Amino acid sequence: MSPKLPESGRAAVVTAWNEPLEIQELPVLAPPPGALLVAVDKTTICGSDVHVWDGAFAADFGIEPPVILGHEIVGRVVAFGAGAEVDSIDRPLRTGDRVVWEHEPCNHCYQCSVERNPSLCAHRTIGFLIPATREPHFHGGFGEYSYVWPRSGRLRVPDEVDSALAAAASCALRTAIPALGRLGGIDFTDTVVIQGAGPVGLFATAVAASHSPRRLIVVGAPAARLEVARAWGADVTISIDEHPSREERVARVKEETEGRGATVVGEFSGGPGAVVEGIDMVAANGRYVIAGSLGGPEQPLLAQRITQKNLAIFGSLGASIDSYYHALEFLRLHTDRFDWDLLLGDTYGLAEATTALRRMASFAEIKAVLDPAAA
Ligand SMILES: [Zn+2]
Ligand SMILES: [Zn+2]
Repeated sequence: MSPKLPESGRAAVVTAWNEPLEIQELPVLAPPPGALLVAVDKTTICGSDVHVWDGAFAADFGIEPPVILGHEIVGRVVAFGAGAEVDSIDRPLRTGDRVVWEHEPCNHCYQCSVERNPSLCAHRTIGFLIPATREPHFHGGFGEYSYVWPRSGRLRVPDEVDSALAAAASCALRTAIPALGRLGGIDFTDTVVIQGAGPVGLFATAVAASHSPRRLIVVGAPAARLEVARAWGADVTISIDEHPSREERVARVKEETEGRGATVVGEFSGGPGAVVEGIDMVAANGRYVIAGSLGGPEQPLLAQRITQKNLAIFGSLGASIDSYYHALEFLRLHTDRFDWDLLLGDTYGLAEATTALRRMASFAEIKAVLDPAAA
């Protein structure tokens, strides 16, 4: 009953770190039970794709070329593995439907089963960790095809939501939503600082703005991204280019918050020293969530500040299919409120994928879009 599969498809493959991607023709295989074969509609490029490509993640994650980048993907269903006819909330899937999906959890470890937090799964699989030589080859989004893994949660994309935006949301927005959720709510009594004006920080800005806080402040750079932050609801932006010292930036936040600091701060930048700075920006009795700092050197901080200010501090790592759902719903509910196109950059074909990566690396693009059907 499955339609005839294509015999092969093209992918832009990383064959050596920091070198141009190589276009390869790879065989297309039938999806195993539980999986879906999809034709990639749009893939957006993430900062982590850049770091896989340039080799920065190679040692930490044990990655070896050849690999296929891309984990922010919207695909159209081409073929179903047995039992894959519905999405994770029981909606039927049909050929041609657009889907997003999560990294594949194992569903049998302590985090998956007891903590119910598959984003901390000890055996979680991400496409760029798997060599492209291993079947079924199309492990990422930089190709004409990809696979929704057998154990991955997957969701149909609402008709109202554009594919490139849904792709971007499947990493950056689904990271921002549970991170702010850890804080237990933002409302009109709050003053909010978002650290970072990359895709995650910008989406966090939109989510925070949707709760109508008293004051919403975004700290970051470059100027073009701060402009997006203001368009998406920031009352004030503080440029790290114009205010290169931490003390200056903390002083600016105090000026904007009647000298007290912000009741809520979210760290989405991963910048060196960002956490030390963030703690100085939180008001007494405030709440701080750290989502951006995933690596980098130690950040020496005065632990007594946490005690003296009576702070609540949270970490937030990754997300599961529930956050993907809320991310898609956030976009569907706010198609008119935010000008989402401000985030998306140019669209590149597979042959231009290297250019797209370079433009991401140089911050010329906030979110480059890959369309395998483009020339
Ligand atoms: Zn990503
Ligand atoms: Zn697991």
